[in-house]
Amino acid sequence: MTKMRVYKLAQEFGITSKELIEKLQQLGINVINHMSTLEEDDVKVVMELFKESNNNEKINEKEEEAMQKIKIADKVVVQDLAKLLQKTPSELITKLIQLGIMATINQEIDFDIAEIVALEFGYEVEKEDTKEEQEDILIPEDKPEDLLPRPPIVTVMGHVDHGKTSLLDAIRKTNVTAKEAGGITQHIGASEVHINGKKIVFLDTPGHEAFTSMRARGAQVTDISIIVVAADDGIMPQTIEAINHSRSANVPIIVAINKIDKPNINIDRVKQELADQGLLVEEWGGDVIAVPVSALKGENIDTLLEMVLLVAEIEELKANPNRKAVGTVIEAQLDKGRGPVATVLVQNGTLKIGDSVVVGACYGKVRAMINYMGKRLKEAGPSTPVEILGLSEVPQSGDQLIVVENDKIARSIAENRKEKLREEQMKASTKVSLDDLFKQM
Ligand code: GDP
Ligand code: MG
Repeated sequence: MTKMRVYKLAQEFGITSKELIEKLQQLGINVINHMSTLEEDDVKVVMELFKESNNNEKINEKEEEAMQKIKIADKVVVQDLAKLLQKTPSELITKLIQLGIMATINQEIDFDIAEIVALEFGYEVEKEDTKEEQEDILIPEDKPEDLLPRPPIVTVMGHVDHGKTSLLDAIRKTNVTAKEAGGITQHIGASEVHINGKKIVFLDTPGHEAFTSMRARGAQVTDISIIVVAADDGIMPQTIEAINHSRSANVPIIVAINKIDKPNINIDRVKQELADQGLLVEEWGGDVIAVPVSALKGENIDTLLEMVLLVAEIEELKANPNRKAVGTVIEAQLDKGRGPVATVLVQNGTLKIGDSVVVGACYGKVRAMINYMGKRLKEAGPSTPVEILGLSEVPQSGDQLIVVENDKIARSIAENRKEKLREEQMKASTKVSLDDLFKQM
């Protein structure tokens, strides 16, 4: 070995002169530029170093090549893992014992442990999707061109005695002919109102409950909330609660200032109190619509409904009627004669008689559908509340209804979910009892 110029040596190693100069500097060998000459001893040192690091790199490459990937689920039986790792079960068990884990050939071990052992044997591990996840339903997204306008779904909220029930009654009365007016019977937990050729759906469930229990289950059915404030009482604790529910659900608010037939009321005071809650009414330069009404006298109810349609239009509510239905249970109970009965709000798609459905952890085939007037329907499109018969059990309010291909799929998904629920409950109860145990100690 002789003296060498930097650039020559760099060529030898297949790197740039600049890279070599940096490496030399790290070694404490200072050179000026690529034309500098290296002493024989320095060349030797550098040569040795490169030989070594090249070998190391090659070894690393080999190891990387050898790292095969395997997929393991949450848990895996020792025997199966051995097969995946191309080892005998006893080799695997020996390794496990070295790691301090006693396991037999038929025992299940956790993913975390399987991962460690697999790494020891030179395998990379990936988590396999669990069966349940694969077997549950994926609701396909709609293409924008398939979406059509749909009616709004409205919840009425407000402080106790401010007139929620009276307002819903008054709204329903606008909808029926004089002949029927005397005998309106309520059939299901929601009603439809038709005004100016357009439809509005009202939920009867007390608004607060609808919001809290449904949202706790990840469901949202309301598009617009009407908050009723009695003009003689003003904003009260449950009014504020209603405002907060609507806000956190991102639902637009329309205020119905009720009981304007009463003497000695002050509508401006109510507007001021609304402003204090951050709801500035339109006539004061804000964007909140407030309509003075009398539920008792049926005064200004039509204006209120027109405002609902106006807000609905701004919201551009849409759905695709030409797909399998998706909906949410509003209420459900066991009927002596008819079995499990659920009021479902169809939110997207069209629900049809004979459809196979999964509803939470229940399943069924839609045997009959009854609308708000007590009429039997064959089909129910987006924003239609219907009572359905034919479920295996009573679902919970807030449960999602999904139409699937056939009964078999519906049943297996429901059973799968039930199993999962059972496991979760079991886990929860074991945890509680352990906590209790520690408390006692
Ligand atoms: P809710 O608790 O919010 O459902 O209130 P209700 O609808 O049950 O009404 C409570 C009370 O207020 C009842 O006695 C109603 O008759 C009365 N009420 C409701 N609306 C009006 C109204 O517009 N004017 C008057 N004067 N009383 C009303
Ligand atoms: Mg009431």
